[in-house]
Amino acid sequence: MCRHLAYLGPPVPLRTVLSDPPHGLTEQAWRPRRQTHGTMNVDGFGVGWYAPDDPVPARHRGAGPVWADPTFAELGRSVRSGAFLAAVRSATAGMPPGVAAAAPFRGGRWLFSHNGALPGFPAGAAGLAASLPVERLLALDAPTDSCLLWALTLDRLERGAPPAEAVAEVVHEAAKVSGARLNLLLTDGRSIAASAAGASLSWRAGADHVVVASEPYDDDPTWQDATDGCVLAADLDHGVETTPL
Ligand code: GLN
Repeated sequence: MCRHLAYLGPPVPLRTVLSDPPHGLTEQAWRPRRQTHGTMNVDGFGVGWYAPDDPVPARHRGAGPVWADPTFAELGRSVRSGAFLAAVRSATAGMPPGVAAAAPFRGGRWLFSHNGALPGFPAGAAGLAASLPVERLLALDAPTDSCLLWALTLDRLERGAPPAEAVAEVVHEAAKVSGARLNLLLTDGRSIAASAAGASLSWRAGADHVVVASEPYDDDPTWQDATDGCVLAADLDHGVETTPL
């Protein structure tokens, strides 16, 4: 189980959300508080962020522990953004290592991450994969369960599904894989969609910002916990809305 986070709000240096808070994502990499599978998230990391006037986000990812990457700290200090998504990875047994398997995954203006697993992958997910055109399967960043879930989500987005609907549909479909854990997180820099399906998920929303994260990064009382089995849609105009899956 990995940990992930998405932020929308006034532009801030990435570190103010990712590593400055007492229980930021960089600390969650080695001491998560609510993680139920895996103990440390040292098998990769990534951050994707949106710059003004550019709908396509930039990314920086790595294959090892986030604290061992000097560039992550540099970017955290010097990049300011009003929309970003970051993740730290604890590879599921049987999944390949490497930077290509580290979230966030990107397609056009979208960034995506997955906390969880499809047990028995790949054989157990053959039915899921069969619904995708072969070109999409061949274009997976890495042969992992998360990349397959991303391809399924992107397929729906490209066919016009609103983000929270795309997420909910993929969770429904993938829940047919017995024991699947399916916390998905998606943003286009203007809205966030996420699911809580097998792992912890929290959010925090103020007048000018919203954060959706696997777990709170501090003890601020405005954090709220998502009920397992829901899909969440958030943006700066409407705040956070959750719907049972
Ligand atoms: N199963 C995915 C992977 O191996 C996600 C990992 C996780 O949530 N721990 O990359």
